Amino acid sequence: NLGSNLKDALRKLAGKTVIDRAAVEELVKDLQRALLQADVNVKQVMQLSQTIKKRALDEQPPKGVTAREHVLRIVYEELVALVGQKVEVTLGKQIILMAGLQGSGKTTTTAKLARFFKRKGMRVAVICADTFRPGAYTQIKTLCDKVHVPCYGDPSEHDARKIVREGLAQLKEEVIIVDTQGRHALEDDLITEIIDLNEITKATHRWLVLDAALGQQAREQARRFHEAVSIDGVIITKMDGTAKGGGAMSAVAETGSGIVFIGQGETIEDLEWFDPNSYISRLLGMGDLKALAERVQESIDEQDIDVNAMLSGKFTLRDMYRQLEAVNKMGPLKQVLSMLPLGGMDLPTEALDVTASKMGKYRVIMDSMTATELDDPTVLNGSRIQRIAQGAGAQLEEVRELIKYYKMMKRTFKGLKGGEKGMQRLMKKF
Ligand code: GDP
Ligand code: MG
Repeated sequence: NLGSNLKDALRKLAGKTVIDRAAVEELVKDLQRALLQADVNVKQVMQLSQTIKKRALDEQPPKGVTAREHVLRIVYEELVALVGQKVEVTLGKQIILMAGLQGSGKTTTTAKLARFFKRKGMRVAVICADTFRPGAYTQIKTLCDKVHVPCYGDPSEHDARKIVREGLAQLKEEVIIVDTQGRHALEDDLITEIIDLNEITKATHRWLVLDAALGQQAREQARRFHEAVSIDGVIITKMDGTAKGGGAMSAVAETGSGIVFIGQGETIEDLEWFDPNSYISRLLGMGDLKALAERVQESIDEQDIDVNAMLSGKFTLRDMYRQLEAVNKMGPLKQVLSMLPLGGMDLPTEALDVTASKMGKYRVIMDSMTATELDDPTVLNGSRIQRIAQGAGAQLEEVRELIKYYKMMKRTFKGLKGGEKGMQRLMKKF
């Protein structure tokens, strides 16, 4: 995928003894290939590679910065520019109009947004203006019920304009999200309807939802919707899939705005506030410490975990126990780990495959450990492992696996600290 191809390109650069014209040209070729494979628009790829090449060869590295770090920094900056500007999400009174074709993920994202704003302490409501898709109201109502957000709609009414007018008259919430219909294709009456809804709602934001699987058609969709209602933010869904994402990402340029959120899964928690810097850092394997910190903070607020101690390597089994509880709330481990700086190395896949049931098992095993063992896992020897396994009704192998997992987590957190320092060091130089 795009991330691993970009990382490969940078790793190759890191292996070079000198950063000369040939090295830069090779890097640019690798970047081009990676971006084109990910469906990024050809024109944009050519522009980007021209700029990177020119800057890498013309600009002198600042004092104390190696040529390698300098080139890395340029690649980073240009990729950040490619995904558009950062779109601020305000927590004030607002009406958000959702635009996009059917199947792009508007309804799912509407519910995710409702949850997002609600968790930020806002009063939120949703209006279902989709009169096209059968069962549209039930779909969004069910999702809204899950997050305890009121949902206005009328499945027997065929006039979306009327529903929206009535909904707005009734709802008093601070944030109102209007889920609209989509079609399989861009049709004139679909466009007319969204223009009308934009006028009726006097929407604060018009966010376009694009499927990451879209290739070059993404640009046409973006252009048409932007012409109609002036899109001021893009949400890219299904970034968790095998999709390349580059088509949707490069379509953002058509709107002159940026990506507001990305959807990372089918469940209502799988929404990520998009920050171009964080995203590109992560894509390049520099890790996204900011997002991780926010995510960790959110989930450990009630858990009493000492993050600083964890980062400084004082990570015991007891910490891991609390952490497993927190991680349960943080969402799929895969996503959480994708935010860690990997420093070019890939995490063992077992780390990503810890399922909820396995975590449950781990907790049972840890319940059979003594306080000494939890605080200082180095005391765990063969006879202790045997006793623990017996106490927990687990296999020896399972206890060993838990210890292995613990050691890996400990290393990961240590690496996180190192990565953070490395990144800070790099940033400070510029
Ligand atoms: P709409 O027609 O634009 O309202 O699209 P829906 O919200 O109904 O979504 C269409 C399909 O895409 C549904 O099966 C959703 O579960 C799925 N979907 C939406 N967002 C995501 C996402 O971020 N990741 C994944 N994997 N599936 C998604
Ligand atoms: Mg829908």
